[in-house]
Amino acid sequence: MSKVLIEENTLRRQAWKYWFVMVTWPVFLVLLPLVYEKNQLAAMIFIVFPGTWLFTWLALLMHESWHKYVPGLPNRGIFHVFGWMLLIDPQIYHLAHISHHKDVNSYRDIEFYPFGQIHNRNIRRLYHLLQIFLGGIFTQPMMSLGVLRHPQFSRECSSLKGLASMSIQVIFIVSTGSVALAISSINLAELVMLYVLVYWSGALLIHHNQLMQHGNLIVKGGYEQRNRATRNLNPNGLMAHIFLFLTHNDALEHVLHHTSPGFYNRPFPGKFPLPDEPVYINAADYPRVLYQMLVDVEPEVQAGV
Ligand SMILES: [Zn+2]
Ligand SMILES: [Zn+2]
Repeated sequence: MSKVLIEENTLRRQAWKYWFVMVTWPVFLVLLPLVYEKNQLAAMIFIVFPGTWLFTWLALLMHESWHKYVPGLPNRGIFHVFGWMLLIDPQIYHLAHISHHKDVNSYRDIEFYPFGQIHNRNIRRLYHLLQIFLGGIFTQPMMSLGVLRHPQFSRECSSLKGLASMSIQVIFIVSTGSVALAISSINLAELVMLYVLVYWSGALLIHHNQLMQHGNLIVKGGYEQRNRATRNLNPNGLMAHIFLFLTHNDALEHVLHHTSPGFYNRPFPGKFPLPDEPVYINAADYPRVLYQMLVDVEPEVQAGV
């Protein structure tokens, strides 16, 4: 379908985004302390934009390279480099994302339910609370545990690769931070505070983007039914537009990413026909999903659409 709807040359023209983000992310990390020493309020705005905007872009393009959507790119290499820049282990993400597609909207999805259904009510609420306020900072390590305790995925994990990834992440953040310290007058504690804020806010936004699509949603049905229950964000109102801008339209037609994962639709909204009766969520209704998770309302168990 994409071959017909989206020409290969059009797909290839997406490549610049990957190189742009690969260069601008470390540049942003170096520039942030300079902005902070001039004006602390401006630094907070700078963290939201372009900070979280770049972070979510990096994360989404890492995801696109997992799917190898853009031909002619060294997708495997880019996937790893972006993972290291985001401080996540590419081999864990790789395995968890297989599960997200195969087991979406079920307790088997390791990206969302690394421990399956948590039966203890208090632990379940605490788990929801931590993911709502910490986002990926909390869910990424949980996802690693989910992969490592999975009977099949754990066999595909290499501790040597994990150690190598961790070392490269340390080298990346220490070298970027050292340049930032050398060209600004801020101290190490301020630098650590800024970087924690940047990674927390970016990882939080990415996670809420995912919760909007799949949060507290369990579908008792087959692969197709579970895919089709994925929520899409209704692009109405200021909040929805700001959210979609900061997350590069990922939630706009997310159902297509599950019903047709082989086709690259995100940069081309409106080009692909959506399945019948797609599920929409308004930005104003999203807090209700979070509220249900916090007060422990049972997930919207659906029989399939
Ligand atoms: Zn995917
Ligand atoms: Zn999804």
